[in-house]
Amino acid sequence: MTRRFDDLADAVLAGAPAAAEDALDVLRASEEELLSVVAAAARLRRKHFGNTVKVNYLVNLKSGLCPEDCHYCSQRLGSQADILKYTWLKPDEAIEQATAGLRGGASRICMVSSGRGPTDRDVERVAGMVGALKQEHPDVEVCACLGLLKDGQAERLRAAGVDAYNHNLNTAESHHDDIVTTHTYADRVDTVTKAKDAGLSPCSGLIAGLGESDEQLVEALFALRDLGSDSIPVNFLMPFDGTPFEGTWELTPGRCLRILAMARFVCPDKEIRIAGGREMHLRSLQGLALHVANSIFLGDYLTSEGQAAEADLELIRDHGFVVLGAAPEHPVSPDAVSPDAGSHDPAKRRRGAGTDVPANA
Ligand code: SF4
Repeated sequence: MTRRFDDLADAVLAGAPAAAEDALDVLRASEEELLSVVAAAARLRRKHFGNTVKVNYLVNLKSGLCPEDCHYCSQRLGSQADILKYTWLKPDEAIEQATAGLRGGASRICMVSSGRGPTDRDVERVAGMVGALKQEHPDVEVCACLGLLKDGQAERLRAAGVDAYNHNLNTAESHHDDIVTTHTYADRVDTVTKAKDAGLSPCSGLIAGLGESDEQLVEALFALRDLGSDSIPVNFLMPFDGTPFEGTWELTPGRCLRILAMARFVCPDKEIRIAGGREMHLRSLQGLALHVANSIFLGDYLTSEGQAAEADLELIRDHGFVVLGAAPEHPVSPDAVSPDAGSHDPAKRRRGAGTDVPANA
């Protein structure tokens, strides 16, 4: 066992921030060193988050039909991916979906819509949904993710009771223009800054597996640290057929663990959330990853199906963690497992928001 990563954890625990070389060292740890990396990162995780796992639940308010061209996204302009496409959910549908997530143990509801950014009317629509949701569930934390914000919109969302705003940087500035051409990296930074300035908790993370170098992953993490992101979703590319990244498989479970550990060393006291691609890329190492990250999404993603929500909760229990906040009231039947889980093209979501089928929560 190497002591190198324990020494790094000691230094970070003593208040010395990890440097870019440390982050690269974590990313490039050998197979032999992998458990040492996890054990060292787990010390930081335990120090700041104890044995809790924050459970988040996605409600896709509007799916597909986006005019932007983010190469990784199944909802992008011209995407041939066979996903659910629908316009805004009605408020009662949105609340029904959110409530299913809360029953499953989620403490944060992430209300997401496709598109470049909301109109003021869209913001009012979401504000109304959030008000109604909070009336029924006063303790729920709500994160909105509606795209690029215009002046005044973040303030309106905050006034309506929204707690956080998600807008991912996704990748390094030096790689951004290779993955999207319809908006700039600066646009993304601007929206995170507007959210933060309005008193919303900034949630901004990345997607790994987009052809970026190790150095660019480190660059992205340090940008998130500098931006003051409170929660950092780490997505692992799900290469949907019908998108430019179709057939791009760069990640291994070990690589994903190293990326999460790197994020933990660089941002030791921030919420590190294992986001999209968890099941597909971490596979049997999901449990180890919980010793590094402290947050997951329950159930399904925006356009693809995750493992059964009950399997998520079991994962948390099996590894000795507890769900932050409310305990689940209604475990989900194992029948909710996607019939084509395990195939390579992500299983398209066919339940929950925008369908008549009960949610996976
Ligand atoms: S990531 Fe958002 S803005 Fe980009 S294509 Fe997908 S839905 Fe549109």
